[in-house]
Amino acid sequence: KAKKEEQLAGRVRVVVRLRPRTADETKGDKDFADVVFMEPEIKRVTLKKNHWETDSYFYDTVLPDHASQKKVYETVTQPVVESVLQGYNGTVLAYGQTGTGKTHTLANIGLEDKSARGMMVRAVEDLFEKAVADTEYNTSIKLSYVQMYMEMVQDLLRPENANITLYEDPDTKEVTMPGVEEVMLDNLDHCISIMEVASKSRVVANQKMNASSSRSHALMILTVLRQPKDADKGENIVLLRRGKLYLADLAGSERINKSGSAGHMADEAKSINLSLTTLGKCINCLTEPNPGHIPYRESKLTRLLKDSFGGSARTSLIITIGPNPEHFQETLSTLQFGQRALKV
Ligand code: ADP
Ligand code: MG
Repeated sequence: KAKKEEQLAGRVRVVVRLRPRTADETKGDKDFADVVFMEPEIKRVTLKKNHWETDSYFYDTVLPDHASQKKVYETVTQPVVESVLQGYNGTVLAYGQTGTGKTHTLANIGLEDKSARGMMVRAVEDLFEKAVADTEYNTSIKLSYVQMYMEMVQDLLRPENANITLYEDPDTKEVTMPGVEEVMLDNLDHCISIMEVASKSRVVANQKMNASSSRSHALMILTVLRQPKDADKGENIVLLRRGKLYLADLAGSERINKSGSAGHMADEAKSINLSLTTLGKCINCLTEPNPGHIPYRESKLTRLLKDSFGGSARTSLIITIGPNPEHFQETLSTLQFGQRALKV
């Protein structure tokens, strides 16, 4: 078990999830030939260029379009949540083209249908279940929720707080966001009602900035504190366990500068590309046996994730793709992004 931990720590686990066809894609399905072929048993994804040519890639886990949210949680997120309870930091990221299921996978609140609940709700649910069952520790769970748009951080729990700066503690090197709202969660329902408000704030904020939500990153931060129930107050602080979990619904990875946009659009494209490219660079560095210098500082997203990424932290990258042949090129570059993250 210890050996397994060692192998997983510091390395990014890469998972591919295929979105099912939408109603539109199902209509007149005669000429709709899926371009993606998934083989979960052998962890392989094949992309069909045409009738004769295919490209295959291997990942840590391959989730076909019928994989449930529960299945995605159990295979991808639960192990990260476990290690957060042990006092490590962790990150779960969703990366992919707009419309491929990033928000569904991570941020779905599932009000009408609980089975549709995404990773954020499930992580909190799991944490509370474990906290209640825990006879040794008292657990507290704190929530922050921010959006990053054009290298600007905005608090989704206090939207008027629209330009948060990052602060790196000179001693611990931990990067925090001073002034960002942190809510002590009472239970799962409390979390869900906060998420509902936050997702509305996100829409309003983006309308004000004239930005589509696919252009910004949404980051939920869960801080889990566990203290032995029988500890003498103040004395056994050493036994305190603190873990931080980042759940990141990233901006769409489509190359939006492709269309040759100008002005605001071009700046927007540049900053999205900066954060996603830097993320890719950092992940690629972690695949080296001796990572050396990792360029976390090159974007706000990676600066913030720094201590929950690589090293002793557990990181899972969910690559989302769609079945549509129209988006062959985007699907290919998404699969390749995931592949580079794995290369040793
Ligand atoms: P993104 O955030 O990557 O732009 P969304 O999460 O908004 O994509 O998904 C696009 C559409 O596809 C939404 O209507 C969403 O409900 C649907 N969808 C995505 N993934 C799934 C899935 N696994 N099962 C059912 N519907 C899905
Ligand atoms: Mg989305």
